[in-house]
Amino acid sequence: MKAIIAGGGIGGLTTAMMLAARGIECTVHEQSPRHRELGVGITLMPTAVGALAGLGLLPALDSIGVSSAHLYYQTRRGQTVWDEPRGRAAGHAMPQMFVHRGHLLGMLANEAAARLPAGTIRLGQRLIAWRQTDNGVEARFACADGGEHVETADLLIGADGIHSATRASLHPDEGPPRFSGLQMWRGAADWPAFLGGASLLILGGVDAKLVLYPIGPGTAPDRRLTNWVVIVRTAPDGSSPPNRADWAREGDLADLAPHLDLFHCTDVDARGLIAASGTIWEYALFDRDPVAFWSRGCVTLLGDAAHPMYPMGANGATQAILDAVTLADALMGTPDIAAALAQYQAARLAPTAEIVRANRRGGPEAVIDVVERLAPDGFTDVDAVLSRADRHAILQGYAAKVGMIPQQEVR
Ligand SMILES: Cc1cc2nc3c(=O)[nH]c(=O)nc-3n(C[C@H](O)[C@H](O)[C@H](O)COP(=O)(O)OP(=O)(O)OC[C@H]3O[C@@H](n4cnc5c(N)ncnc54)[C@H](O)[C@@H]3O)c2cc1C
Repeated sequence: MKAIIAGGGIGGLTTAMMLAARGIECTVHEQSPRHRELGVGITLMPTAVGALAGLGLLPALDSIGVSSAHLYYQTRRGQTVWDEPRGRAAGHAMPQMFVHRGHLLGMLANEAAARLPAGTIRLGQRLIAWRQTDNGVEARFACADGGEHVETADLLIGADGIHSATRASLHPDEGPPRFSGLQMWRGAADWPAFLGGASLLILGGVDAKLVLYPIGPGTAPDRRLTNWVVIVRTAPDGSSPPNRADWAREGDLADLAPHLDLFHCTDVDARGLIAASGTIWEYALFDRDPVAFWSRGCVTLLGDAAHPMYPMGANGATQAILDAVTLADALMGTPDIAAALAQYQAARLAPTAEIVRANRRGGPEAVIDVVERLAPDGFTDVDAVLSRADRHAILQGYAAKVGMIPQQEVR
C-alpha cells in the first residue's frame, strides 16, 4: 500500500512515520521549498506524547521541550481561580510537554528524513488537484521550480492545514475559515524561570487572555526560553477578518501595547518579557465549522485540514498526532482502504468536532470567565465566588472531551 500525504507540518510528518512503522509506504509533499522552523510555543498533551513515544521520539522530545509540572489559572487581576499538577505529576503515564513549534517541526523533519527512504519528503510541491482512478488516486502538484508533478498511490491524506486544498475539493461550498473576532500576538524570549520553572500560567478568559509558559532551556539553569501569548477580542465574532489566517505574519508591539494594561501579572514581568522578544507574531484566530465527512473513497483529511480549532485548550498539535496514529492503525494490514478511512473518520470526527465547539466557548479556561463574571471587582475567597466542585466540573467537562483524564489514556 502507498499513501500520498499533502502537507509536511506536524500532522503530515507524524503520519508518514506512523505509516512507515506499520510497513506502509508514502510520499510527503510540502508546498514550502524548505522546512521553515516557524511558530512559537505549542503544547503536547500526554496522549500525543505517548503516541510519539511509540515512535521512539521521547528522548528527542525531552531534549527540545519542557515537561509541564503545574497549571495556574488566574483572573486578569492576577487572582488564582484554579491550580493543579499536570502531566506525570497528575498521574499520567506520559508527560505533558511544552515545546517550540519550530523546534518540534525541525525534530520531526530530521527524524523522518533519517527513517524514511530517500525521496519520501518532497519540498516545494503544492497540491493543486487530485482525482480518483480505477487503482487509487492521482495527485497533481505545482512545483517551486515552475513545473508540475503527478504522483499516483492507493490513497491521499490531506494534511494541508487550515486552507486545505484537499478539504476544499471534498467540500467545495464551504468558503473561507471563520473569524472569531479575537486577535493573538505571541513571541518568546530567554527569561528568569517562574513558578518552579515548568508551569503554565494563564490570566483571563475568552475575551482577554495572557498565557505564559517555558518552551525550552534558557541561557542559564535558572532561565527558560519563555513563550507568551496575548489574545484580545478586537472585533465581534463573525465580522470581517483583519487579514488572512497566516501563522507566519509579523506583528507590531505598538498594536499590542495598549492591551497589556488589561493584565496585572504578579508572577512574571510580562511587559519586560514581551519587550525582550525579538520578533512578535500576530494571528487573527480562525476555525471552521465541523464538516459531515472527512473521507470519501481513498481520500481523507487529517489535523488542521480536518478540524482547525482555536488554541484555547492547546489541542491543535495533539489532535493532529492522535489522528495520525488512529489512521495508521486503521490502514495497517487491511486491503479495504475505503473501509479503513471510514473507520478512522468514525473514531476521530465526532470527538474533534466537540473540541472545536468547546474551544469556541473558551475551552477549559472558561472557568476563568465564569469567576470574572461573578466577581468583576475581584475576591478575597474564590470558594465564596464559585465552589471548588463547580470549578472542577467546568474543567472536567473539557478534560473528558480531550482524553485528559489519566485513566482515559489508551496508549
Ligand atoms: C507556519 C505555522 C506556524 C504555526 N505556529 C503555531 C504556534 O506558534 N502555536 C500554535 O499553537 N500553533 C501554531 N501553528 C498551528 C499548528 O502547527 C497546527 O495547529 C497543528 O500543529 C496541526 O498541524 P497540521 O500539520 O495539521 O497543520 P499545519 O501545521 O498548518 O501544517 C500544514 C502544512 O501543509 C502545508 N500545505 C498547505 N497547503 C498545501 C498544499 N496545497 N500542498 C502541500 N502542502 C500544503 C503547509 O505549508 C504546512 O506545512 C502554526 C502553523 C503554521 C503552518
